[in-house]
Amino acid sequence: MKIRQRTKSMCGRVVRQVLCLVLIVSAPLFASAQEHNASPVLIRAERVFDGHHVRTHTAVLIRDGKVAETGPASQLKPEGATVIDLGDATLLPGFIELHAHLTYKKVPEDTVLRHGITTLRDVGGPVHPPRGGNGTLRVMTSGPILTAPQGYPIPALGTANIAIPIHNEGEARKTVRDLIAKGAVVIKIALEPGGEHRAPWSMHHAHGHGHATPASHQEKADHTHKAKTPHTGPHSSQHSSHTPASSHWPLLPESVVKAIVDEAHRHNRSVTAHVGEERGVRIALAAGVDEWAHMPCDPIPESLLKQAVAQNVTIVSTLDTLSKCTGIQQNAKMWKALGGSLLYGAEIAHPDIPWGIDGQELLYLMQWAGKNPMEILRAATSHSGKHLGVPLLGTLEPGAPADLIAVKGNPLHGLKALEYPDLVISGGHVVVNRF
Ligand SMILES: [Zn+2]
Repeated sequence: MKIRQRTKSMCGRVVRQVLCLVLIVSAPLFASAQEHNASPVLIRAERVFDGHHVRTHTAVLIRDGKVAETGPASQLKPEGATVIDLGDATLLPGFIELHAHLTYKKVPEDTVLRHGITTLRDVGGPVHPPRGGNGTLRVMTSGPILTAPQGYPIPALGTANIAIPIHNEGEARKTVRDLIAKGAVVIKIALEPGGEHRAPWSMHHAHGHGHATPASHQEKADHTHKAKTPHTGPHSSQHSSHTPASSHWPLLPESVVKAIVDEAHRHNRSVTAHVGEERGVRIALAAGVDEWAHMPCDPIPESLLKQAVAQNVTIVSTLDTLSKCTGIQQNAKMWKALGGSLLYGAEIAHPDIPWGIDGQELLYLMQWAGKNPMEILRAATSHSGKHLGVPLLGTLEPGAPADLIAVKGNPLHGLKALEYPDLVISGGHVVVNRF
């Protein structure tokens, strides 16, 4: 089935990064715009997506870093406001990226912000309290990933600021409390035995998380042998020295995951799990994990996806990073058919992912997960804001943080346009304005 329209290429990525550099160099040009922050700003646009619906001929008034009012452009005329008239353009809440590794890959926050992500959740990196959102990228963290001793991602990346090995339930609870005390908004765990066909982490782990390499190491793992006899499986002779013992990473036992979930819930935090195949999914479901940090890579039986929907599991999409996985399309399609909650996340820091809104992720959400453009915009804005528990984040309702982006024309006719917003406002500060 030829539904893919690959709009990205290596060349495209290079061009994008050059453009990013140009933007950074030209940053002082925009500095004066930020000084207008003291007075209210009124933005008029042909179309305004308020996080829920598109309204026409609408204006948004920003005051003190918040959305003060949204209403018909003909009626909203506050005195003393700086007016930005966008004309035939669409104003939206800034996008929320729920799966990133910003710090670990040293992705420049300013570049991400200028490309339409105004809030980002870093799930696997140093822990710190939520910060930014006032002309800078709003960043929330999980801190390092809790995993089994020598479990993924430790064999690939070690532990420094990336992973914490958990030996028992007591350690699990203490670690969860420590991370929350240091500002974690969510707890991230890994339940990854490895071996999924064409998963980035199964291919070439020596170069780190998400560094996919060409197909030379993509031989199909023998799932029937994964747990017990690593060197006698029928494919073992094909493994090069670079290939990880990819189907043999130990998993946290269910009892430890239950302790993690229980301790997190006691402190009003949820738990997100890296899962890519059935074993991890089963443990996550049995332990009551709230969120899957990826759409699983391997095909997941419908009964388990049904159970996940019944348990109100939310899945963060990351369809682009896992686009080569054998089960990704089927899982996405089934998840949609079952009515499961699917939110936007592209895994910024993955080498295939732009440092900002990922238009390809949006296209996959449409093509594979069957979402219409409005549903996709909601998944990346209001629904994610609600998921993060920040009041009104991702909406343009009165009282919402004034995080906005705008693009010329109508992005519902071409979501890719969102990768290059012409206006970016963070907490009321104008960061980009090409109108
Ligand atoms: Zn990740």
